[in-house]
Amino acid sequence: MMQPQIILLKEGTDSSQGVPQIVSNINACGAIADAVRTTLGPRGMDKLMVDDKGKATISNDGATILKTLDIVHPAAKTLVDIAKSQDAEVGDGTTSVVLLAGEFLKQSKPYIEEAVHPQVVIKAFRRAAALAVEKVKELAVQIKRSNPENKLDIYRDQRQMLLKCAATSLSSKLVSHQKEFFSKMVVDAVLMLDELLPLNMIGVKKITGGALEDSRLVDGVAFKKTFSYAGFEMQPKKYENPKIALLNVELELKAEKENAEIRVDNVQEYQAIVDAEWKILYDKLDKIHKSGAKVVLSKLPIGDVATQYFADRDMFCAGRVVDEDLKRTMKACGGSIQTSVGNLVDSVLGSCEKFEEIQVGGERYNLFTGCVRAKTCTLLLRGGAEQFIEETERSLHDAIMIVRRAMKNDSVVAGGGAIEMELSKHLRDCSRTIAGKEQLLIGAMAKAFEIIPRQLCENAGFDATNILNKLRQSHAQGGKWYGVDVLNEDIADNFEAFVWEPSVVKINAITAAAEATCLILSVDETIKNPQAGGEGGPPGGMGRGRGRPM
Ligand code: ADP
Ligand code: MG
Repeated sequence: MMQPQIILLKEGTDSSQGVPQIVSNINACGAIADAVRTTLGPRGMDKLMVDDKGKATISNDGATILKTLDIVHPAAKTLVDIAKSQDAEVGDGTTSVVLLAGEFLKQSKPYIEEAVHPQVVIKAFRRAAALAVEKVKELAVQIKRSNPENKLDIYRDQRQMLLKCAATSLSSKLVSHQKEFFSKMVVDAVLMLDELLPLNMIGVKKITGGALEDSRLVDGVAFKKTFSYAGFEMQPKKYENPKIALLNVELELKAEKENAEIRVDNVQEYQAIVDAEWKILYDKLDKIHKSGAKVVLSKLPIGDVATQYFADRDMFCAGRVVDEDLKRTMKACGGSIQTSVGNLVDSVLGSCEKFEEIQVGGERYNLFTGCVRAKTCTLLLRGGAEQFIEETERSLHDAIMIVRRAMKNDSVVAGGGAIEMELSKHLRDCSRTIAGKEQLLIGAMAKAFEIIPRQLCENAGFDATNILNKLRQSHAQGGKWYGVDVLNEDIADNFEAFVWEPSVVKINAITAAAEATCLILSVDETIKNPQAGGEGGPPGGMGRGRGRPM
């Protein structure tokens, strides 16, 4: 008897399922991991990406690379997501998390192909990940203050720890040669913030030109000199304890043709309108002057008349200040942004210890230091090419995030593959006590952890097999912090070599990678329906039998 054909999905729907689907997803994720593989570690390479507008980005950061790549494979997107989440959560370790997930999947592939049920693999991997995280927590070294009574000691020890973590994070970046310089800068920047360590209180300004070492940290707000009119040069450029008016008010005469259309019959009427306009402006200016403010910042333009007016009264003004800068000045110096000048009382004016204009390279910068309200700082980055400065900014961002993390949670582990080798050993030991399939699967996960030291070796051009053998040996003999020594093509105690990373980075990476692996393994069918979703639906799909009210 002939079975009637059951049509379940619309024509054109593409679906594939079962083991081949899982394997194909694993392969896609492998391709993603391959894309970032070579960037890992101090000897990692950078990637240059060009978008459709021809804008080039050079980066070493896993999250940045994957974000720019615009990946379409539905399963592989998961890896992009974990890289992004690692970036948001801890800021560094984005390449590691992708590599780990890729390797977990790769190690699971033979089992999937041999028809081990994915749920069995998932269960084992979950268990292994939990074991690994537990082990990281157990291994992590709390940085102890040598003398809890002495506050300076606390600062010294914590500072040293932060410097090491920042240096490790920076050592794999383009700026690795200046890592001492920049890790000091980053740590200082974070230490300047208050308790909550708000990231947006660290401003970053990029100025092309000069050498990287000309970069500097300003303990306050800094922004570039805005567009100015004649008269500006007559204004003072330096004040002690000035009051600062933050405005969202236009201080400019409108050109007549831009205003509303008015019918006038004679010259007098026209003159009256012009006078009124001047009077409005002067009223505003007088009010600002009377408030006692010395520095006037406005989001909207400040015209030539106003500029001259302020110059005559020993005041400084800057119009068209970027919103972000104005807000940061407000947070740092107190006061509030006013949309009118009607109520410029002291409580809405900000203040700082010192305001000055300085020259950085070819640009002039307005500097507000010694801010009363919030602790803030600005990094003025210098350097050659624009892409280079941008990558510097991203690298510093990673380091800043790491330092913030390390401040909140001051336990560290040794990097350079040391922690991963130790986890690998631990999992292998654990797996021996477990019977059944799970033993093999946890063993597979143990093997997967070795990808980090292996890749570090490969990227440095070392003989990975040789180094890994040495590492396995020393870890078996209890050298728990032995990792790759990228300088001498050997292994070294990376805890003593101060390759330190906050333990949260590793914990987050392991959890996220395992999570993504389990997610991808649990998907055994992708259904692609070209007609569902998308924008606007297919042409002609509208109005099928739908009467439109006239
Ligand atoms: P991610 O995006 O994952 O942070 P990186 O390119 O920054 O990738 O590489 C980080 C890896 O490099 C970590 O495993 C870290 O332990 C290792 N690493 C950093 N500095 C050193 C060093 N001086 N020696 C050996 N390994 C290092
Ligand atoms: Mg890094």
